[in-house]
Amino acid sequence: MILGRLGALFTTILVLSLLSIWVLFAGILIESYQNEWRSASLFAGNVGSLLEQAISRDVELYDLSLKSTAQGYTNGYAENLPPELRQRVLFDQSTNATGLGSILVLDKDGTAVADSRFETPRSFNGANMDYFKIHREGKFERELFISHPFKSLLQQNMWTIGLSRRIDDAEGNFDGIVLGTLKLSYFTHLFGAVDLPAGSSIEIVHDDGIVLMSSPYANIGQSLRNSSIFRQISQVRSGEATGVADSDHVERLYLFKRVGRLPMTLAVGIPTSHFLSMWRWRMSVVALGFFILSGLIVILAITLGRELQRRTLAERSLSELASTDGLTGLANRRQFDETLESEWRRALRDQAPAALLMIDCDYFKKFNDTYGHLEGDQVLRSVAGALRDSIQRPADLVARYGGEEFAILLPNTGIDGALRVAEAVRAAIARLERQHAASPLGHLTVSVGAASCVPKDEGGAVSLIKAADFALYHAKEGGRDQVAVSPSRDMPGFAWREDDAIQQAS
Ligand code: GH3
Ligand code: MG
Ligand code: MG
Repeated sequence: MILGRLGALFTTILVLSLLSIWVLFAGILIESYQNEWRSASLFAGNVGSLLEQAISRDVELYDLSLKSTAQGYTNGYAENLPPELRQRVLFDQSTNATGLGSILVLDKDGTAVADSRFETPRSFNGANMDYFKIHREGKFERELFISHPFKSLLQQNMWTIGLSRRIDDAEGNFDGIVLGTLKLSYFTHLFGAVDLPAGSSIEIVHDDGIVLMSSPYANIGQSLRNSSIFRQISQVRSGEATGVADSDHVERLYLFKRVGRLPMTLAVGIPTSHFLSMWRWRMSVVALGFFILSGLIVILAITLGRELQRRTLAERSLSELASTDGLTGLANRRQFDETLESEWRRALRDQAPAALLMIDCDYFKKFNDTYGHLEGDQVLRSVAGALRDSIQRPADLVARYGGEEFAILLPNTGIDGALRVAEAVRAAIARLERQHAASPLGHLTVSVGAASCVPKDEGGAVSLIKAADFALYHAKEGGRDQVAVSPSRDMPGFAWREDDAIQQAS
């Protein structure tokens, strides 16, 4: 019973501790996953901001040059100047230093009429180019136009983006354009300055979905309009998205940002495998640790459980030993005294009768003398067995009172019942038919003293013993091999019934 309850408690504690350990692990797992994601996002965001600021600043400067060239051309300041001076007036030389590219002025027919690189403009006509047509059609009257990438004839067939502004004449009519060329190598240099994890990508996408620049160099000039990532980017313009790139099927975390006020978005993509594989590896190590910890807890719990069980069983058998008589296996004197006390109290509470039989083997000293002590011991065991067989109720207690004396405590039993049991005991011993040559009766017999009463006070248990002992004395006096009840009505603590007459078995 106790063992069962302890086992359940133990199992509950074990399950709870394992559960809390794994809840803790799940917490660490989620927390660290979010951390990895956050730090990757922060990193990509910082790189994105850095690049975005550099690009928007450079383009702004470049645009200032375009504006001043357009202004100079419109005002006609440079028209009649000698070529060298005309160069100085029209073009801000700082643009050459930025590595952004050269600036051209195309007249209203698209023919190059001024060139920041050469005093005599390179021969070029851009009338068919988008940037020229758009300005001529007046769609970008006051704004900087950013073209799709094209392979520039003027720049050794290199990928280039055109940045252009419209030039008006004095009346505000279309008078040509100023065109700046931005080599994509400008971005290559810029992107080369940041150190990104392997497999990362940087893209600059025009608002209409055309890839202006990408690192690694791929998809330039192609449309991303149908890609899921572009759809996410075009909805929010600035933020974070996760997606698989159509070009290389790598899943990346993209941080995207609009480049200044320009019609383009910069996206920095870090492969999720880069930070998640590290996270997976770390978590496998932590998981292993948790497995080992759980295993140790289980082993510890099993060991403790076994030890507890062993101890409980040992304690149980010890307490059994402490209350059992070694020779006969009956309750010993200690157990008898304790049970008598508690039964007495119970009988007092319930005002119910309690009966006691005292049983003593007749002429036992002579038996020992005749057959030896070992044989005597054997007989005592047989007597114990016979006594045990004579009782019927579970609450009845048979004890070895001492030496060759036994006691039977019969709760809830009046004198009639006690006498019946006493007689059954005497008969059971007789049935053993144990020869006793030294006894005048010829075989082993017992004398039994019986007493029963309804307790009157707490400390009266001892008077029940006295009464039974007294009856036993009478049985001996009466010739042994018989049952007697206490003849005294005056025993303290006793409530005799009138019909409790002295009974003596013949
Ligand atoms: P009575 O009929 O008057 O009871 O005579 P008795 O000889 O039985 O009485 P007495 O009390 O003089 O002797 C009891 C004897 O019981 C003494 C002892 O040798 C024997 N005895 C007591 N305990 C044990 C025991 O554990 N084993 C054996 N073999 N004998 C015991
Ligand atoms: Mg005796
Ligand atoms: Mg005796």
